[in-house]
Amino acid sequence: MSKLKVLFAASEVAPFAKTGGLADVAGSLPVALEEMGVDVRVAMPKYGRIKVDGPQAVIGRDVKVYFIENEEYFDRKELYGDKFGDYHDNLERFAFFSKEVLERCKKENFQPDIIHCNDWQTALIPVYLNTLYKYDPFFSKTKVLYTVHNLAYQGLFNKDEFPKTGLDWVLFTIEYFEFYDKVNLMKAGLIYADAINTVSPTYAGEILTKEFGCGLEGVLKNREKVLTGILNGIDYNVWNPAVDKKIARKYSAETIDDKYANKEKLQKELGLKIDRDIPMIGMISRLADQKGLDLLSKIIDELLGMKVQFVLLGTGDNKYHILFEKMAKIHSKNTSINLKFDATLAQKIYAASDIFLMPSKYEPCGLGQMISFRYGTIPVVRETGGLKDSVQEFNQKTKEGDGFTFSEHRADHLFAAIKRGLALYKNKTVWAALVKKVMGLDFSWEASAREYVKLYEKITGK
Ligand code: ADP
Repeated sequence: MSKLKVLFAASEVAPFAKTGGLADVAGSLPVALEEMGVDVRVAMPKYGRIKVDGPQAVIGRDVKVYFIENEEYFDRKELYGDKFGDYHDNLERFAFFSKEVLERCKKENFQPDIIHCNDWQTALIPVYLNTLYKYDPFFSKTKVLYTVHNLAYQGLFNKDEFPKTGLDWVLFTIEYFEFYDKVNLMKAGLIYADAINTVSPTYAGEILTKEFGCGLEGVLKNREKVLTGILNGIDYNVWNPAVDKKIARKYSAETIDDKYANKEKLQKELGLKIDRDIPMIGMISRLADQKGLDLLSKIIDELLGMKVQFVLLGTGDNKYHILFEKMAKIHSKNTSINLKFDATLAQKIYAASDIFLMPSKYEPCGLGQMISFRYGTIPVVRETGGLKDSVQEFNQKTKEGDGFTFSEHRADHLFAAIKRGLALYKNKTVWAALVKKVMGLDFSWEASAREYVKLYEKITGK
């Protein structure tokens, strides 16, 4: 049987460019697919920050990453926008990218069985395949899988920008692109793709409802038969405290005492009291409403009044910057607020913390909880999307479960979950056993990649 050929198109791919979880997925799923015998190539824009010479790079053993070049569009400081907002020409930029992905396949003579698209930036690819490239024999057998990493970011543009897609106005109707008088790229992608998936089974069900559907629940309902959910994994080679060069002391499930050396080192580095007995609560997150910061803001003052240390790393909405800066002033002794993007500090926080917060309002998959597990840090999460699929409340009697969870979007319930964590932390033996247990959980890409291969085979009939 010939190898399955997959072109994976994404607007960000780790380690080249990252603003969020999509980059982690795009940098590790293709590598896992390669291990399963898939001939997979990746395509992404060549942003200014990518210092690789030439039009391609390699990840994994030999997964080619095709850079789509255009200095005017991509040689900028950021990926999608700056402090003034989204770049004004994002529609043009990603329409260009989407078309060039198809042209690059032809140039490389790589005839994909599947083009695996991700989020709104690549949503025009299935549209182009069914319109501008409809009669192009090169793509006659190519199918599209469209993965929704976050339904809230849809690629919405003013109607007068529609011609920049290069498509005929006949497609600007509510059957395709039109969404409350705007252009909605994701909507068209969902309609034209051969199959759709999201990054967790629970989120796949949630997005069919008004609460989580972001206005596209009707479109998704119509496509329910081809909609599935596959939980993301994380790259176990990258996220591994046993080999992590960025942390002070490497450790494994057999040497968890060394985890506390990392805690003391970070306490020193961040100017916190050096004391391994004070529970350290970590949070690494985009500072957006999605992440449940409204709940945290209601309880943070009281929480920081307790015998805990709080370490936050994140950037985002100004209102949260202001809130956390205020907290850092009031509770300067036990609080470290780091309002920036810093991959190295992130690794140190995962290694040093005892508890990791993810009280998200919604969470398509979430990677922080899986990374936390890997570093022996116990997550406190809201039971939504991928958080629900990966974290179960710990039961002290049966020893089942691996974290602390709450269901309703309520600040008092979040606080109660944190308090259950803090209470258990005092029981050193049970806590140590829990740390050891979560470090042994398997959220590597292997199982998820196998599911993707099955899905590709189903779509292509191979
Ligand atoms: P999302 O994609 O919605 O932002 P995920 O939990 O899926 O959330 O992925 C977030 C990823 O980005 C994680 O790997 C997390 O550690 C990382 N991250 C988020 N904010 C920062 C930051 N300020 N500095 C470093 N890494 C960050």
